[in-house]
Amino acid sequence: MIAVQGFESARVGVLGLGRSGLATCAALAAGGAEVCAWDDSQEVREKATDAGITPVDLTRAQALEGLAALIVSPGIAHLYPSVHPVIAAATALGIPVDNDIGLFFRSFARAGFDLFDSPPRVIAVTGSNGKSTTTALIAHILDAAGRPVQMAGNIGTGVLSIDPPGEGAVVVLELSSYQTELARALTPDIAVFTNLTPDHLDRHAGLGGYFAAKRRLFAEGGPDRAVIGVDEAEGRFLAMQMGEGPADYRVIRVSSGQKLGGMGWSVFARKGFLAEWRGGRQVASIDLRAMPGLPGAHNHQNACAAYAACRCLGLAPRLIEDALSTFTGLPHRSQLVAEIAGVKYVNDSKATNVDSAARALQAFDRIRWIAGGLGKEGGIGALAPHLGSVVKAYLIGHSARDFALQLGAVPHELCETMPRAVARAHAEAQPGEVVLLAPAAASFDQYPDFEQRGTDFMTAVKALETG
Ligand code: ADP
Repeated sequence: MIAVQGFESARVGVLGLGRSGLATCAALAAGGAEVCAWDDSQEVREKATDAGITPVDLTRAQALEGLAALIVSPGIAHLYPSVHPVIAAATALGIPVDNDIGLFFRSFARAGFDLFDSPPRVIAVTGSNGKSTTTALIAHILDAAGRPVQMAGNIGTGVLSIDPPGEGAVVVLELSSYQTELARALTPDIAVFTNLTPDHLDRHAGLGGYFAAKRRLFAEGGPDRAVIGVDEAEGRFLAMQMGEGPADYRVIRVSSGQKLGGMGWSVFARKGFLAEWRGGRQVASIDLRAMPGLPGAHNHQNACAAYAACRCLGLAPRLIEDALSTFTGLPHRSQLVAEIAGVKYVNDSKATNVDSAARALQAFDRIRWIAGGLGKEGGIGALAPHLGSVVKAYLIGHSARDFALQLGAVPHELCETMPRAVARAHAEAQPGEVVLLAPAAASFDQYPDFEQRGTDFMTAVKALETG
């Protein structure tokens, strides 16, 4: 655990007592703060009480008096679509509102750090898609290179729950826009921006607010190196703003699909090959086509971003290449589950929106596509240009009929449930084809979350293997 510094003997409010909220309470207490914790849900408060925390009702105005800070969970709206009343009251009183990420950065460096030859570093990853994969990939490469590494943030462990890092250690953080918007300290050594597509617009009052939230990681933190995906206008703008000129090596531009020219530092993937360029010369190249854990142009973008971040830490291209080839992928994201009679089964249950489903559909040539669930606004209308690789769709869940209408002439079948969809796809698939779960819909009509949906797919596939 990282003991929070700067609040010794001070009263600090914690709003939201989920996993990260409880970890925040413990880290504040370890740093000597008096914690006043609250959650609107009685059920969650009871769980917190079981964990040894006595809730203090922060909705009563007097409870906020004298608080040195209010720390809030990412799920609680701090501005849009409407500010939570406790945050509004704290703001009116001038109490600094922060989150666990802000506490982490203010508490990360400890007195002992100056004794290290190689002080610990923090890499922070943000963006609309690919954050988890890029974070895990960076951690995998560093681990393979023998560097002590911990992952935290949106992925796995809460930031304050990691072990205090030692000599030469690296902490890789996955940060969402909710987190970067609110954190009062944001000082990574290396910041990574994967890409930008519209998401969470209600929490940021539109795309501009969403981009501004992510941009804070770069603008506030002044990282030594900024790895920036430049395939959208926002990324290009950010890269321009972070550099002093086109040859400023503090900015590493990343692309999937474009050759990046100029005298700067860039890493891009084209036709399955990663290339690193510096000062107008190619300095390394890697064949990504044979990397089993990184199928598709979207994963090549993640590979480029992770490669660039690791190059910033001085790792050699060959070492990174070896590690890329042993990355097995994250569960539920382009995850190769099995190969049966020449047919691959891929679980991309995390493809809950049309953007990520489009990427998955572009990653393979002949696809038996399992889709459907709780469809989002517009259904799969926006996927029309990406359906050329679909041999047939097997539709499940609440949106199955709507999706069927939008598919028009693309062959499809209503299967309702996952086991039936897997069985039907299996019965019809030919060698060389891919049975792909990429639902383009949320899972909540049939499952508690996308993980359970993916697990159900994998169970059905495993049953085929053993049956
Ligand atoms: P995040 O943490 O940003 O949600 P993940 O790595 O968990 O990203 O991937 C989420 C979904 O997006 C998955 O369906 C995955 O296959 C897809 N995806 C992964 N990387 C990218 C990328 N660079 N661009 C677009 N989609 C991606």
